[in-house]
Amino acid sequence: MTAATTGRPSPTPATTDTHCPYCSLQCGMRLEGRRTTTVQPWVDFPVNEGGLCRKGWTATGLLGHRERLTTPLVRDRATGAWSAVSWDQVLDLVAERLRAVQAAYGPDGVAVFGGGGLTNEKAYSLGKLARVALGTSQIDYNGRWCMSSAASASTRAFGIDRGLPFPLADVEHADVVVLVGSNLAETMPPAARHLDRCRENGGRVVVVDPRRTPTADRADLLVQPVPGGDLALALGVLHLLVAGGHVDEEYVATRTVGWEAVREAVAAWWPERVERVTGVAADEVRALAALLAGGERVVVLTARGAEQHAQGSDTVLAWIDVALALGMPGKPHAGYGCLTGQGNGQGGREHGQKADQLPGYRLIDDPAARAHVAAVWGVEPDSLPGRGRSAYELLEALGTEDGPRALLVHGSNIVVSAPHATRVQERLESLDLLVVCDLVMSETAALADVVLPVTQWAEETGTMTNLEGRVVLRQAHRPAPDGVRSDLEVIAGLAERLGSPVPFSADPEEVFDELGRASAGGRADYAGITYDRIRAEHGVFWPCPAADHPGTPRLFADSFPTPDGRARFHAVEHRGPAEAPCGDYPLHLTTGRVLAQYQSGAQTRRVRDLPDDGAFAELHPLLAARIGVADGMAVRVATRRGTLRVPARVVTTIRPDTVFVPFHWLGVNRLVNDALDPASRMPEFKVCAARVEAG
Ligand code: SF4
Repeated sequence: MTAATTGRPSPTPATTDTHCPYCSLQCGMRLEGRRTTTVQPWVDFPVNEGGLCRKGWTATGLLGHRERLTTPLVRDRATGAWSAVSWDQVLDLVAERLRAVQAAYGPDGVAVFGGGGLTNEKAYSLGKLARVALGTSQIDYNGRWCMSSAASASTRAFGIDRGLPFPLADVEHADVVVLVGSNLAETMPPAARHLDRCRENGGRVVVVDPRRTPTADRADLLVQPVPGGDLALALGVLHLLVAGGHVDEEYVATRTVGWEAVREAVAAWWPERVERVTGVAADEVRALAALLAGGERVVVLTARGAEQHAQGSDTVLAWIDVALALGMPGKPHAGYGCLTGQGNGQGGREHGQKADQLPGYRLIDDPAARAHVAAVWGVEPDSLPGRGRSAYELLEALGTEDGPRALLVHGSNIVVSAPHATRVQERLESLDLLVVCDLVMSETAALADVVLPVTQWAEETGTMTNLEGRVVLRQAHRPAPDGVRSDLEVIAGLAERLGSPVPFSADPEEVFDELGRASAGGRADYAGITYDRIRAEHGVFWPCPAADHPGTPRLFADSFPTPDGRARFHAVEHRGPAEAPCGDYPLHLTTGRVLAQYQSGAQTRRVRDLPDDGAFAELHPLLAARIGVADGMAVRVATRRGTLRVPARVVTTIRPDTVFVPFHWLGVNRLVNDALDPASRMPEFKVCAARVEAG
């Protein structure tokens, strides 16, 4: 295979405009240097205007890293020893063993697990590999644990799920911005400039978070509900908007349906009741509602803090209800949006690596969708499998009587990132075959039978879709180390050996063109987007159905993509966390991120210039005093699923009834509850009952 067909650079250009390998902001950056590559600002790219966080500035630290895998490895289960093998040998071996598993257990005996960091081309090809070459329904991805509750709620309310239906810079012109469960200043610092400019323009910023984070430090109002209290808070705000006559009745009458049921449902959520449920003083609830009522242009943004709950979808729906009641969605510089987390959290959920989905955000059980995509793929619609298991349910089923016996993993470090991770590790260890594609020997790769070393970010080309729905192009800058192949080459090589009835390309631009055709007419329509357009236009917003279509930076101005063009209100009820505190576990445990690390840390923990202090537990001084712990002393954080020993950080920024532990390290997610949201199948990462003791 030549460089021209793999999307790898040849020869290495002196300067390349590309994007950060990490979060959903997909900051533009310029790479310079052939042997030693450095990151320079790309000031023309509008999302970050040259600004990067420390993860972006140090992103080249993984290129040429000494822990980089450069040969396929096969593990001897009896001895645990790894052997290096050639690519032909390993792909033959994997294909042969996958065929053997399917011969014994049927097509669904093999499962595929993807990631929200994969390029659109990889996510698309992975879905096609599963449905066409393997014929399995068992495919899902780690983005299910990230954005699925907001995705589910947006689809139900607006008929479409695009994280932000407007460019992020629109918030600069809002009168009020409410961030519910987002620590944007720490997780994507260049985005915080938009909040600062909003305030400079006279706008007000509200942060809803159990912790006083760096984002809260930039806010005009901080509201600190107990973890799991965001939904009740939204109901209380709606109650006050109704009571004060602040509902935009004309907008509600002409652009929405379902309001009356919501009006009735919030009647019983007076501020004092909200205070009892959320711990937020009734006067603060009133202050929040008054701010919202006074804004001409209000933006409501949710993130993982509100969404990663067993009722995360309902929580998002309640905040969408607030935005709709105020008449904001579709209005300039106003509306509701979700701040997506993973690098391709948006595109990764659009093109077929979800259990229920085909490219273009189509549903796999829609006959018209099946017919369209099957025609692009050159197969019969009836040959495509149906809906599979969601991410956690898939992992839970591995190695069981009815579950898959082999798993292919691309772009995910499951044993660090899954909830109830001890059980997930047991399931992985029970498989007949575990194959992991990764750059380094991650904690999940270390459990595998076969590890395939793949290219990373600056060594390959592909598109990502950022949190605004802007499709951007990551461009290869330098060659990959010898012995490494791209995920697209791995997928194409496996498809061929598995006897796929149709060919798979390993050229990202060819794959993207096919993706465009497969997505044509779907909700996420990329048919008019090309690599050349992305380069020329600083990204293109979907939907973009034709080459002469300008793309769609802003949605909903005239109507919503629902059958009648109106948005839907949803009357939802507060149920609270799946695990309430009790005598044995009297506290709330919540988890989150820190500035210097990204997701499971498989990349950032290896970057020398990023501090890696390991996990810690944030405790309020009152709690620390009660259990006899001082700052820096070891504590044991225990839940019904496990115990973690970490140093204490005694801070006044957290509620006294809540403990915070960042999740980038192995073991933290062993504590987390695997209760699932009924609509999105999102696990409840953000709250469970816990106990903390000295020791
Ligand atoms: S991690 Fe996110 S915020 Fe930081 S530089 Fe990369 S894309 Fe930008």
